[in-house]
Formats: sequence, structure tokens, C-alpha cells
Amino acid sequence: MKCAFCGYTYEQEEAAQVCQGCGLFGGCHLTKCPRCGYEQPQEPPVVQWLRRWRARRAIETATHERK
Ligand SMILES: [Zn+2]
Repeated sequence: MKCAFCGYTYEQEEAAQVCQGCGLFGGCHLTKCPRCGYEQPQEPPVVQWLRRWRARRAIETATHERK
């Protein structure tokens, strides 16, 4: 997740800790930026998956270059 307001990048787990008033995370379909408190809609699962996949690719590429 990237905050649209302050640009801070955070994981949904972090946002879940901030969003305590909602009870179970996922109930309100919003994430709250841990830094500025700005609320925005959650990323769709596809976007989350793509982001994780790209991060993993970057790590794999870096590992290959070191060999
Ligand atoms: Zn923010």
C-alpha cells in the first residue's frame, strides 16, 4: 500500500494495527496510513499479488547477479 496523501509505503498488516476502531480488519474496506492517518480503499488482491511478485523478482535478479 502506498499512501496517496503522504507517499508513505506500508503493509496492510501495519494498517490493521492502526485501524483498531473497526474491529476485524477488512470490515471497513479501508486502510489507514500509519504515518498520517489518511484512509484510502484497500488495494485489490490482484494488485497486491503483482506487487509481491515484482518484489520477489527483484530479489531473485539481485541474487543472480551476485553469483
Ligand atoms: Zn499517509
